[in-house]
Amino acid sequence: MKKILDNNRKWVESKLAEDSDYFNKMAKGQKPRYLFIGCSDSRVPASAITGTEPGEMFVHRNIANLVVHSDMNLLAVVQYAVEVLEVEIIMVVGHYGCGGVAAAVSNKQYGLIDNWLTHIKDVVRLNETEFLRIRDKEQQLRRLVELNVIEQVRNLASTNIIQNARKGPNPPDLHGLVYDIHDGLLHDLEVQTDTLDEFMHIYSVEATNHAEKVAEGAREGKVAEQKEPETKPATKPRKDDEPSAMPKAS
Ligand SMILES: [Zn+2]
Repeated sequence: MKKILDNNRKWVESKLAEDSDYFNKMAKGQKPRYLFIGCSDSRVPASAITGTEPGEMFVHRNIANLVVHSDMNLLAVVQYAVEVLEVEIIMVVGHYGCGGVAAAVSNKQYGLIDNWLTHIKDVVRLNETEFLRIRDKEQQLRRLVELNVIEQVRNLASTNIIQNARKGPNPPDLHGLVYDIHDGLLHDLEVQTDTLDEFMHIYSVEATNHAEKVAEGAREGKVAEQKEPETKPATKPRKDDEPSAMPKAS
């Protein structure tokens, strides 16, 4: 641990040497443009490989960069990043040589993590024809890393957080990238909007308020319903027979 603390002191000194006001600026708050969803692998440091400084990128990492719809940790990060920080770009970043992806296809037991990795087995199932067509094991794993990223971007797009944001004026752009640990390069998989929208007839949720519904109707070429939204009275009248724990406003 001493090494870590020593490194920290040296880093503080180097930052202050560059800019004596550096930490005062940092303490004022953050307005990152990017959300990075990547693998926990120690060889994929989000800031270093993207050349971003502290304050520029909001980060969530887990094993094999999965976007799981019941993962409250991830959902909280995405919701905060999109609705409060208003990030402009969300990137799901996988990497070739991912141990999580390799473990998922190995059939070995590693413990609790096997259940997490089942999400990658699902990606194999969804792309089985293409996956089995690749004979070379190394190429098979590389392709699975890519397919996994594409699937996770799809998962991201189908969250109600992103669906709601896409109905608004400034939805974040979604990207799927793969980092190659052999040469340090990031590759954009260019996940198209078509790909994200392919299954939206299954995943779509209706707009949550009147303005969004009108915009949605206009986009879909429907005659938008012009009826004013029903505004709730400040104090909702209650039926006499309805039990109420709240004191009535006078
Ligand atoms: Zn990994």
